[in-house]
Amino acid sequence: MSSLLETHFWAIGSCRAPSALAERGRPWRPMKFPALAVALRHPAHGWTLYDTGYDPHYFECLRDWTHWPIRWALPVELPPEQRLERRVSDAGLHSDDFRRVIVSHFHLDHIAGLHLFPRAELVFSEDAWHSVENLSGWRAMRMVYHPAAVDRAQIVARGRALRAEDARPWNGFPLTWDLFGDGSLRLVGLPGHARGQLGAVFRRTPDGKEICLVSDACWTRGNLQGRAPIRPARLLMDDPAAFDDTLRRLEKFASNHPDTLLVPTHCAETVAGLQAAETFPQS
Ligand SMILES: [Zn+2]
Repeated sequence: MSSLLETHFWAIGSCRAPSALAERGRPWRPMKFPALAVALRHPAHGWTLYDTGYDPHYFECLRDWTHWPIRWALPVELPPEQRLERRVSDAGLHSDDFRRVIVSHFHLDHIAGLHLFPRAELVFSEDAWHSVENLSGWRAMRMVYHPAAVDRAQIVARGRALRAEDARPWNGFPLTWDLFGDGSLRLVGLPGHARGQLGAVFRRTPDGKEICLVSDACWTRGNLQGRAPIRPARLLMDDPAAFDDTLRRLEKFASNHPDTLLVPTHCAETVAGLQAAETFPQS
């Protein structure tokens, strides 16, 4: 059996948006959508971070006038106790302990804290980077990206771009990468919401439960039970047909793996459940 990974699940700030946008049938009342960052420790390869959530740097990027629409549409809260550096230090860790950061995709709410890890290897899909690497101004805003969120020198020196040619099919997903070569952390291509988006599948300590981080392949648990996002939310997707295809593959994966917990980055119920389990470990 492959190694189990020690985990921390951290909500790093949240935004407010009408819940009906994320899931058909929900009320229009605004609700909080947390941004999840996940710390994963492999016994031989040390600490890896999956996404960063929000960061004060996010607000600096949105001061650029081309990015004001995001500021207006999605108000964000980041209490001091939820900031990533606080979460890291509260766990007895230091940002330098993280040898690598997996970027699920280059939306600002997933990468705003990258500057905290200047020495880490950055792992992302080549497709995802190519979709944003030359964007600025309005075109960057439309992709919820800002060039100031990424250190290009770090991408050149310590970027690990995963290529489709090196991927293997696995459990109905055409493109997956075995990050450590031991089956302990499998990155899964989940395109649609954003080009080249990466999910991650692993088993956690101490219970061996399988977790599948799906990033923004869906926003709520309900999306995986047939209640899709409504039409205006689809306008924000890179490729709505690919989004639907990915969702179908995830639904099939979930029905074939009923014990696996699928974790959308912004699903408040799922994130709260994971954090509660961490505070009160199940024996
Ligand atoms: Zn996104």
